[in-house]
Order: sequence, then C-alpha cells, then structure tokens
Amino acid sequence: CSSVELTQQFLDRIEQQDRHLNSFITVTPEAALADAKAADERRANGSATPLTGIPFAHKDIFCTNGVATTCGSKMLANFVPPYDATVTSRLRDTGAVCLGKTNMDEFAMGSSTESSYFGATLNPWGDQRVPGGSSGGSSAAVAARLIPGATATDTGGSIRQPAALCGVTGLKPTYGRVSRYGMIAFASSLDQAGTMTRTAEDSALMLNTMAGHDPRDATSVSRAVPDYTATLNEPLKGLRVGLPSQYFSDDLNPAMAEQVNAAIREYEKLGAEVREVSLPNADLAIAAYYVIAPAEASANLSRFDGVRYGYRCENPSDLMDLYTRTRAEGFGSEVKRRILVGTYALSAGYYDAYYLKAQKVRRLIQQDFVNAFSEVDLLMSPATPSPAFRIGEKTDDPVQMYLEDTFTIAINLAGLPAMSIPAGQIDGMPVGLQLIGNYFEEGRLLNAAHQFQ
Ligand code: GLN
Repeated sequence: CSSVELTQQFLDRIEQQDRHLNSFITVTPEAALADAKAADERRANGSATPLTGIPFAHKDIFCTNGVATTCGSKMLANFVPPYDATVTSRLRDTGAVCLGKTNMDEFAMGSSTESSYFGATLNPWGDQRVPGGSSGGSSAAVAARLIPGATATDTGGSIRQPAALCGVTGLKPTYGRVSRYGMIAFASSLDQAGTMTRTAEDSALMLNTMAGHDPRDATSVSRAVPDYTATLNEPLKGLRVGLPSQYFSDDLNPAMAEQVNAAIREYEKLGAEVREVSLPNADLAIAAYYVIAPAEASANLSRFDGVRYGYRCENPSDLMDLYTRTRAEGFGSEVKRRILVGTYALSAGYYDAYYLKAQKVRRLIQQDFVNAFSEVDLLMSPATPSPAFRIGEKTDDPVQMYLEDTFTIAINLAGLPAMSIPAGQIDGMPVGLQLIGNYFEEGRLLNAAHQFQ
C-alpha cells in the first residue's frame, strides 16, 4: 500500500486507542500525511530507502523543528524548537514519516511514565499497569501497534525497562554511537538515543539511519557505521555467552528466573556456549548512578530559568523571583528531588565524598565489564526485576522506583550497548531478556536478538 494509506491507518489507530493509553503528547496528522505523500513520490522516482514512507514517532525529548517538544514537563509545555535534533533530521532525510511525539517521564527521570506533566501512559497489556519509563510512551505505542517504531533514550534503563514491560524490542547503543545533539539533556555522560521496535530487524533499520558521527556532538564517535541488517542472520554457533552471577542471585524473582533461563536454553539450542561470569561491583551501580545522574542533571537543568525558553512565572517582582518561582512552578517533584540531590553532591566539601567517589566506583564497574568481555562475546540477564507494576504502586517510594533499573544502570555507567527483547510472560504480563554487548557491537546484539525472534 502507499505511505499515505499506511500513515492514515496508523493515525486512525492512534485516534481510536490513544485517548485511553495516552502514549502520545502530540500527534501531527497534517505534517505526517504531507511527508507520506512526499515519500510516495520518492518511492515512485526510485530514490527511496528502506524507511522511506514508514511511520514512526519520536520520544518527546528530541527537538523537532516547528513541533512542540515538551520533555514531559510543564517547563517546556509551550516550547517549539526552531531546529531539529540530529536524530530527527536523519530520520526525516531518509523519508521516514513522523506521526508525533510520545509521552515520557518528566525530563526522562523515572521508570513508569507517571511523572509526565501530561498524565501517565497505560501499558496496553494490562489494566492499570505502568508501561515502564522513562520512554513509556514509545514502548506502549509500539506494543499497541499505534506505530511500528519509535525513538527513545536511555540514561539508566529508559529504553530497556519499558521495552521489557511492554513486550517489545528496545536497543540502547554504545555511548557515542548516536548523536545527542538536540536531545534534551538529562545526564550527558550517560544519555544515549536508541530504538523501540517490534523486532531486531526494524531496530537495525532505524539504527542504520540514526548512528554515526556528528560534528555537533563532541562525544559522538567517528567510526564507520556497519549495515546492521547485514549480520542479522549470522549463525550463533560458538557464541560465548556470560551470565553475571550477581544478576542471578537468590533474590531474583523465581518466575523471572524461570523465564530468563528458558530463553537462555533456547540460545544454547542455537549453539551458544553459556558460562557464569562475575561483575563484582554490580551492587554499587544504583548508588553511583544516583550521585552522578542527579549531579549532571542539576547542571543541565540550570538553563531552565524562565528567561530563554519555556515556562515563565506570572508577574515576577525581580530577577530572583523570576528564577525561583519559574522553577518552583515549572518542575515536578521528581525533577526537584534530583536537582536538590545533585546540587548537594556537587557542593564544596561534599564533592570528594560523593561525586568523586561515585566516579571511582563507575570506573570499577566499567572495568568489571572489560574483564567479563575478555572471556565472552555477550552477557545476558533479566531486563527488570519483575513485570509491569500497577499505576501508583511505586510513586510514593522513590527508592522502589529506582530499583527498577537494577539490571540496566551499570551498562550506562560503562557506556556499553544493550537490548531488551521479549522473553515470555508472567501472569499475562511480558518480561524481557537483556543482552549486553561489548563496545560498538550493536551488530552482534541485533544478530543474537534476531535469531531468537
Ligand atoms: N529510571 C532511571 C532514572 O529515573 C533511568 C531513566 C533514564 O534512563 N532516562 O533516572
């Protein structure tokens, strides 16, 4: 069918179902149909790429020229960027058709999409369950077939955890593989853009377009981008898979262990050789992250001052009143909590005790992975401790919410690529298997995911 027909079908599904799910913050039907028409012309004149004419959506953290970009916050509820993020322009240039912007935790801080200023997103799999977060709009929209694929970002688990909870495929590439230009910053040394799709093949197609050096992001890496679809069918015979013992402890939910072990047995049937490995500092990851990420967030979010863009309080009496009231009224409580923690950790006298210490722990965690990858090609673990929880269940207990990322956060601290792929269900709710690769081995991850699917 034509891209215009395809786009209309997805727009209709969004119209019918998203009133209930709330996975989109903004839908742009007119722009989408115009892009679809242009894509059909491109297909007719032979200049199409595999994504030309294919509908998708952006997490509302990516700047989209002329289209509201809210980052799930009141602070940016009225912000319309005058430019595109690099991820946005690359997908646009290839002819993919953006249908809108997906819901997310405010400033990507959270694991349930409940902290969005625009209301919680529901998990399409179950009544009143969270879709995970912070990219819960992207994962719910893909799971509900409102869109075939979406962009997302992952600072501590925000692609993999919602992918797991919604039964879809989420890929967080190596830090530096995809440009962060125009992606609203949370914790710059951890943030990375990636994909939310049904299959590894779709993820490979998106990554082909998204990856690559960008002179506008000094941390993006100038390293050739392979064709990620070319290696999807490589046989897995002899693949050395490591299971980090710390991720399979006695504390692991038995139903989760059962699902993950069944998936690992499938990999053995496909020829993988499985052995145990150790990440001795794994249990320090959450603590280190919750110093480093808030520290970076407190610096990044200082730009929201009511002067340059976004929300501004009414009738400020002076400059200090403008700053303080704008920020008091514009940010939600989780964002404020992070700013307070980060500012404290960076303050004179505490820097050595918290921030510097956390950075040292970060290096130890990274070294654990380097050691593990001297023995194996890929690591596997559960993606989350449990399936999707109920809306409201963890909102009053931030630490419970933070523990959602038990299996994902260390990977961001090390800058490694990782995926969550669907691996069965517990009581009718999906769970995910996490695949962790060595630096720039997205191709190997996608290959392993594709063979399993
Ligand atoms: N849940 C983690 C946090 O709240 C990770 C979020 C993310 O990856 N953006 O910080």
